[in-house]
Amino acid sequence: MRVYGLMMAGLNMAYDDENLIALSCIQHYAYCKRQCSLIHIEGIWIENVFTAEGRIMHEKVHEENSKTAGGVKTETSVPVRSYVLGFIGKADVIEYCKNDKGEKLVTPIEYKRGKSKLDNCDRIQLCAQAICLEEMMNCKIKKGFIFYGKTRRREEIVFVDELRKETIKLAEEIHEFIKAGVTSKAEYEENKCDRCSFLSYCMPKSMQKAVPADKYLQEEVE
Ligand code: SF4
Repeated sequence: MRVYGLMMAGLNMAYDDENLIALSCIQHYAYCKRQCSLIHIEGIWIENVFTAEGRIMHEKVHEENSKTAGGVKTETSVPVRSYVLGFIGKADVIEYCKNDKGEKLVTPIEYKRGKSKLDNCDRIQLCAQAICLEEMMNCKIKKGFIFYGKTRRREEIVFVDELRKETIKLAEEIHEFIKAGVTSKAEYEENKCDRCSFLSYCMPKSMQKAVPADKYLQEEVE
């Protein structure tokens, strides 16, 4: 892994301002490569009830002002970037405080509308934010949180080596993917596609191997 190797060697400038890409790309890529290519290569965005709920939730979080309470300073809508990952974006919320030893703790918090998922997409996005903040603030961030709107709970995410390596590897892949500029083919996966705002545009079922016309029509009617 070239980028991770650069970090280990202390040479953490793999990208420059001209080839930074949107940090949200990593969540889209981890979720579905076709979704990522439609959004970040073709520039298409389609809203559904899930994305609308997520957008409204983020807008509310970003409207809140920075504040300090109980020894914790909270900042919202914080610009972040990393020349190691080659990403630029915004963190929803960052908390700053000191531990018992007087060490400064930086904690990113990402807001999501749904509930905790089995896949790692949301955790990878948060880890990418943490790596951005570490690079910008020259600090080490051990953990962050994802607040899920449906359950109204924070999930603690510890940035273990495995998660960091996965994040760095994906970041490198994404740069190659975006540079190639080829839209991925659709592959239907019930758990992903049925929630995806691109479902009717993408029609992943029709991209599967050919099915008899009467069966196809029957499925569409159902
Ligand atoms: S409908 Fe499925 S294949 Fe198409 S973009 Fe969404 S998740 Fe990807």
